[in-house]
This record gives sequence, C-alpha cells and structure tokens, in this order.
Amino acid sequence: MKGKNTPAIAAVVYGNRAYDDALLELTDILTDNGFVVIGAAAFVARHSIFPEVARGRPDTADKEILRNFARQCGNRLETIASQGHITVKGSRPYREAPPLPLKPSGNSRCNSCGACVKICPVGAITAEEPRKTDKAACITCTACIYVCPQKARSFRGLTYKLAGGAFRKKCSSRKEPELFA
Ligand code: SF4
Ligand code: SF4
Repeated sequence: MKGKNTPAIAAVVYGNRAYDDALLELTDILTDNGFVVIGAAAFVARHSIFPEVARGRPDTADKEILRNFARQCGNRLETIASQGHITVKGSRPYREAPPLPLKPSGNSRCNSCGACVKICPVGAITAEEPRKTDKAACITCTACIYVCPQKARSFRGLTYKLAGGAFRKKCSSRKEPELFA
C-alpha cells in the first residue's frame, strides 16, 4: 500500500511477553510508504503458543482503552497538519526473532479436510500427509492449530510442556496496552 501523506494508525498485538521492535518496524514501513502515523498502540491478546497466558484478552478493560484510543486518534485527524511524528518504543536495527524449536503436528482426529494445508503460509503441510509438518519450513505461526475444525493439530511432547511451564512463570503477570498518540 502507498499513501500520500495519508493518516494511518499502527497497531500490534502480542501475547503478554513483549512486542520487541514490531511497532517501530510497522511505523517505519508506514512512514517509508507515504503514510503519516497519527497513533500507534500495542495491545495484548491470548498467547498463540501458550494459550493459558493472557487467556480472555482482550477483555472489557482492554476494549475500553481501545475505544478511547480510537477517539483520541480521531481528534488528531483534525489537527494533523500541526502534529509532529509519533515516537514509539523500539530500537534499530530491529531485534531478530530466533527460530522456535516448537512445531505443531496432527493426530488421529484429522479427517484430511485440507484447511491447514491451505492456511499454512510457508507450505509446511501437504495434502497427502496433513498430520505431519515440515519442521524446517514451519515458522510456528499456529494458524494451522486454530483453523483445524477437528482440533487435531497442536504442540506436543516434553519440550512443549517444559517450555510452557517456564513461559507461564515468566509472562503471566498482566501487561497493559501501550498507546502512543
Ligand atoms: S485442518 Fe485438521 S482435520 Fe483438516 S487436514 Fe489439517 S489437521 Fe486434518
Ligand atoms: S504453525 Fe504455521 S507455519 Fe507451522 S505448520 Fe502450522 S500454519 Fe504452517
């Protein structure tokens, strides 16, 4: 997408750990493509790999903050010509995301419907063997888990259990949305 001094709102969502440099990267991409970022925000949602973390988020309090943020951005639209650039949290060069060793797979509930094959962004699942995952290709996005109507795909094994325990210990305290407007 290209803008011509077009107002834009940058928003990222993360699972109660950290959003690292994602918001900075997004605002940089928008600015480089002709947009004027009038507001930016990082919101919390249920963690995609360890769904016990931030379960139920975004909740009522989050949605109220989101509504107020939208109002604030709306007000900024009227005075956009006199506004400076929004400064968001993050640093350059952006933090590299290390590859995760956790990869989902399917079980006997799979009926070969093909939904996971279709949604996988990197072609790590084949129509012939949808219970399997090409571990080298998989980027642990979790899309196949949430799209599976049979709930056949999930993370399994001791590594997942141990990692989940450590992650819950470290990341269970509630984090609040962060707004930049
Ligand atoms: S989405 Fe689920 S049921 Fe459908 S092919 Fe994939 S693993 Fe099997
Ligand atoms: S987690 Fe994402 S990348 Fe990995 S197999 Fe599932 S859909 Fe593909």
